[in-house]
Amino acid sequence: LTSQHLTKSRYIAGLQCPRRLWLLVHEPRPYDEPTTGSTLDIGREIGQKAHLLFSGGVLIGEEPWQHAEAVSRTAEFMNDVRVHAIFEAAFEYANIQIRVDVLERLANDTWGLREVKSSTGLKDHYLDDIALQTYVLRGAGVAVSSIELLHVNTAYERGPNGISWADFFRRLDVGDAVAVRLIDLPAGLPAMRDCLSLIELPDAEPGSQCGIPYACEFWDRCTAGEPADWIGYFPRLSQTRASELKMRGIESITAIPADFPLTSKQLIIRDVTASGKPYIAADLGRLLHTFGPPASYLDFEAMMPPIPLYEGTSPYQVIPFQWSLHMIDSNGVMCHKEFLADSLNDPRRQFAETLIDALAGSNDPIIVYSAYEKTRLTELAADFSNLSTALNALIARLADLLPIVRSAVYFPEFGFSNSIKSVAPALCPGFSYNDLEGIADGGAASAAFLQLASGCITNPREVEQLRDELLAYCKRDTLALLEVHSALSRLAFPPS
Ligand code: SF4
Repeated sequence: LTSQHLTKSRYIAGLQCPRRLWLLVHEPRPYDEPTTGSTLDIGREIGQKAHLLFSGGVLIGEEPWQHAEAVSRTAEFMNDVRVHAIFEAAFEYANIQIRVDVLERLANDTWGLREVKSSTGLKDHYLDDIALQTYVLRGAGVAVSSIELLHVNTAYERGPNGISWADFFRRLDVGDAVAVRLIDLPAGLPAMRDCLSLIELPDAEPGSQCGIPYACEFWDRCTAGEPADWIGYFPRLSQTRASELKMRGIESITAIPADFPLTSKQLIIRDVTASGKPYIAADLGRLLHTFGPPASYLDFEAMMPPIPLYEGTSPYQVIPFQWSLHMIDSNGVMCHKEFLADSLNDPRRQFAETLIDALAGSNDPIIVYSAYEKTRLTELAADFSNLSTALNALIARLADLLPIVRSAVYFPEFGFSNSIKSVAPALCPGFSYNDLEGIADGGAASAAFLQLASGCITNPREVEQLRDELLAYCKRDTLALLEVHSALSRLAFPPS
C-alpha cells in the first residue's frame, strides 16, 4: 500500500504538476546514492557544514523510513535545555512529514527554523518549502519565532587558514515572505491529497511547468508518444506561440502553417524538418573568411567547487584545469597539444602560462565554440595581472564558430540543437563521441576533476584512469571543432 502522506519534496512536486506528484508516489524511481560532485551530494555536504554554525547541536540520525522514531527523539531533545539546536528535526502534522535542517533553540521557549541550501541565493520555490515546514511546526505546537535561509555566500573568499564557515554562509531572514506564502497554503493541500488518492495517473500536458522549478524526471515518460518533430522540441518557441499552436491543434513542427509567425531560425528549422534537406546560407563562405587555416582549435574544461579549494577563491568560482589544442598549418599539417593540471594545487596560473606558451609566435585565429573560452581568459587576465597582456592577445585572436553554425547552417540531423555534440556527427559522417569510455561530457569532466582535486579519489590506478579519460574527452572536443570547421569550409567552397 502506498503511503499517502505529504512531504516537502512531494509538496513541491505537487505545486509543479499534479502528475509529477502522483508519479513520485506511485511509480517512484529507484534510489541512487548521489555520486561525488552531484547536486545532491553537494547539498548534503553543505548541509552538514552548516551544522558547524550551531554549537551544542545534536543530529536526529534516523532514516526517512523511521519517521515515527525520529519524531520521538526530536521531542526528547526539545525537552532537554542543554540541546541548543537539533539537526534533521522530525515532525508530523495533518499527515505531512517533514525534517527541518536546523531547529535552533531561542529565548522564551521559541525556536528558529533554519533551512540550508547549497544555492547562492533565495529562489521562489524555497519559500513554499519553508512555508510547509512552518505550517507543520506550528501545527505540531512549536513556537517558531524566526525563520532563516542559510545559503552560500559567493562574496566569501577562502583565506590562508581554510574555510571560515560563519562567512561561507549567508543567513537571510525570510519570515515575512514565508508569512505571505502561508496564507494560501492550507487551501491547496486537499487537492494534493485528492491527487495522491487517485487510482489512475492524472492527465497533464507536458509544457513550461516541466522544467520549473526542477527538470521533471518523468519527461521521457510523458513525451514518449509525441511525434519526432513535436513542437515542444522547437527551440525558443515562446509560451504564447506554443499555446496558439496547441489551440489550433498543431502538434508537429512540419504542420505549422506558412502564415504562422516564427523567427527566421525557426522558419529554417521548420522548412528543413519538412523537406529533409539541409539549409546552407549563401554567405557561409564570407562568414568563414577569417577562420583560416592556418588555425588553432581550443577547448577548456573547468570545475566550480561549491566549497573553495584554494586560497583567494570563492564558492562556485569557475576554475579552469584543462585545455586541448589542435593546430593546423597552411599546408594542412595537424598537431595536438594539451594540458591537464596535477590536481594538487590551484591550477589557474599554470593553465594560463602553458596555454600562452603553446600559442606563442603566431597570430593565427584560435577557433572556439561559444564564448566560454573568452570568459575564462578574461577572468584569468584579471586574476594574474602580469599575464594579462599575453592573455588579452589570445582573446583578440579568438574566432567563435557557434554563431556561424547558428545563423548559417541547419541539417535535419542536428535534432534541434547547435551543440558541438549534435553538429559534429551530423556534418562529419563517422565522427562520434560514442566510443569514449567514461567521461563523455563537460559535466562529467568537471565532476571527475573535482573528485581528484578534493582528494576523494587517491587510488593511483583510478587516478590514472580518470586522467586518461579527461585527456581523451577534451581532445575529442577540439577534434570535433576542427572537423566541423573543415566540413563548413567544404559546404561553403565545394570542390569544383
Ligand atoms: S514531464 Fe511535465 S507533465 Fe509530465 S509529470 Fe513531469 S511536469 Fe508533469
